[in-house]
Amino acid sequence: MAALTANPSCDRRSLLDAAGIDKDALAAHLGLPRPLRKSQLALDYGLTFEREVTAQAGAPLVPLLRQALSLTPSEVSYEDVNSVGSDDDKSPLRLRRAHTRSRILSAARRKPAPRTLLDHPVLRLTVAGHQAYLEPDVIAFHRDGLFHVVEIKSFPVIHGQPDPIKTNAALTQAAAYVLALRELLADNGLPPERVSDTVILVNPRNFTRHPTATPFSAHKQIKNLSRHLGRLRRLPELLDKLPPGTTFDLAPGPDQRPTRPRGELVAALATVRPYYTPGCRHHCDLAFHCRTEARNQGRTAALGTAVRDDLAGIDIIATALALTDGHLHPSRGQKDITQALRHAQRIHADLQTDTA
Ligand code: SF4
Repeated sequence: MAALTANPSCDRRSLLDAAGIDKDALAAHLGLPRPLRKSQLALDYGLTFEREVTAQAGAPLVPLLRQALSLTPSEVSYEDVNSVGSDDDKSPLRLRRAHTRSRILSAARRKPAPRTLLDHPVLRLTVAGHQAYLEPDVIAFHRDGLFHVVEIKSFPVIHGQPDPIKTNAALTQAAAYVLALRELLADNGLPPERVSDTVILVNPRNFTRHPTATPFSAHKQIKNLSRHLGRLRRLPELLDKLPPGTTFDLAPGPDQRPTRPRGELVAALATVRPYYTPGCRHHCDLAFHCRTEARNQGRTAALGTAVRDDLAGIDIIATALALTDGHLHPSRGQKDITQALRHAQRIHADLQTDTA
């Protein structure tokens, strides 16, 4: 979801997602380093914070949500969907999903609506025809019949200000849960708008581990994600551009190890247009492949998003240089950018003369 929303212009990623290709296995077979991931320490810290917030049947969480959602003290019941019908720490996803579904639908149909917190529910979202299982931290059901997604995040809110990039990522994640919840209601004849755009983020306050809950509108992220999911449904457009017989099959042998020659896979990837940005390194398993490709092809994208955006319409570094030094005549659409490039070159030359 993060890769899908972070780089929606990438046909390569869209196609691989739509085809349900295991990007991790593909990258491993190509011998690529892993993308930048959170450290184990940060993951452990996040898990501990989440456990603290939902401990004792959600005791620390309830007052926070009561305040954020204006609930009265008697209005909240708590249910953990982590282990359903067994003593295991975690029941199978399908069982948890079935249980979540029945709890949500019965809550949505009852009048007056019960006030419930569902901890570790499991939802299902259709992504390019595939069913993806999603696990929000908590779903809160409001007395006015509204569902709210609650996400517990370990990044701090300092003096009321959370990190904007991390907040946006958390809201994008929550947007997927909102859409999955709306899909569940709509599939069962209930109005999807009963799932609120307002998402509650629970974070540590300042430099402590004391939690604080803040409501955020995820309207923009929900719209973006819906658009990208809609784009995935337009798979035929992407398939039309593919040479016949293109496959990303790893051809596993009897021992399940991939046997597909790497050169063939690289050639198959080259048939689909990428849209590399340095941000890919944070969310896509193929980042190092696409970065090397962008560098080898002299693409402006390899120099960063700012350069690529400033040179919009000029994809290749050599073209930009040729336009700058006059070896290439600019087309009508390239006149403005060529002027800007030549101006930059004059400033650069002046600075060099001054320092000499
Ligand atoms: S790493 Fe490659 S495939 Fe992945 S999103 Fe970036 S350009 Fe697309």
